[in-house]
Amino acid sequence: MTGSPPAIEAVDVSRTYQLDGVSVEALRGVSLTVRPGDYVALVGPSGSGKSTLMHLLGGLDRPTGGRLVIGGRDVNALSPPEMATLRNETIGFVFQAFHLLPRTSAVENVALPLVYRGVSARQRRERAAAMLGRVGLGHRLDHRPNQMSGGEQQRVAIARALVTEPTVLLADEPTGNLDSVTGAAVLELLERLNAESGVALVMVTHDQEVAARAQRRITMRDGVVVADSAAHDRPLPVDHGRPETLVPAPSAEPRSVSGSGPGHPSGGSGGAAGATGRLPREPGPSHAGADTREPGRGEPEDGAT
Ligand code: ADP
Repeated sequence: MTGSPPAIEAVDVSRTYQLDGVSVEALRGVSLTVRPGDYVALVGPSGSGKSTLMHLLGGLDRPTGGRLVIGGRDVNALSPPEMATLRNETIGFVFQAFHLLPRTSAVENVALPLVYRGVSARQRRERAAAMLGRVGLGHRLDHRPNQMSGGEQQRVAIARALVTEPTVLLADEPTGNLDSVTGAAVLELLERLNAESGVALVMVTHDQEVAARAQRRITMRDGVVVADSAAHDRPLPVDHGRPETLVPAPSAEPRSVSGSGPGHPSGGSGGAAGATGRLPREPGPSHAGADTREPGRGEPEDGAT
């Protein structure tokens, strides 16, 4: 779908964290385009910047340099509530650890992001039930996650991520908590939904076999993209050189700001994930979409609900 406008476009994006008086350059000039229908595996060693990039692509955080356009909107021009709305409308998130509300039925978990769209209760249930049907759980609507297997829970999480019909689904190690057979089934489901609905799938994985299945593979190292199998779009950035990642800086910003993390990852379109500032791996308690806080950005702000 090279003719369609990009779902996400990052141009020379950087993200520097301030931590204990030092700057950590987590991203150092990343340029990439995610197009509708893409199927991208994001790979690279631990610490290479994958999570930071996912935060940015998901509109949970803003670049400290460069330009990031999500759904045609330049994130630097958006207020936090506008960012939350953009997330709700454009992005779905799936996490390794599911992050469902454990004592809330599957159908209510899936319907949750629609609350922030102002969809009526009856419509919410209908749409959530239909989405659960698409992931093979039409017979489990009123089961609670704590009554379900890991594979079923991940299907619920996928249904929740897609019920708002986002253009991009960001998945962080979606099979990482599952045994290989269940993981393969979940991967097949994601691939089918990507093919059927045209939602772009961007998936962090450490599993080479999983990565090999993607149409496109982006490899990161030390905060830059070192390989992109679709790089014909745009030349790879020159390596700006990396004298050292830690540079003294006057102010400190904690790595995970307690209680001021991403909040709900999609401002209502993702799961019940919460507030640790490390969205893909350790979302915290549920805020069910009302929270517009962004990682590493200090004070929470009122959000669009
Ligand atoms: P990956 O997901 O590939 O493991 P990350 O994006 O988590 O990589 O991290 C990239 C770099 O940024 C690492 O050096 C990491 O320690 C640092 N980093 C990530 N998040 C923060 C943060 N909130 N504050 C300070 N440093 C961070």
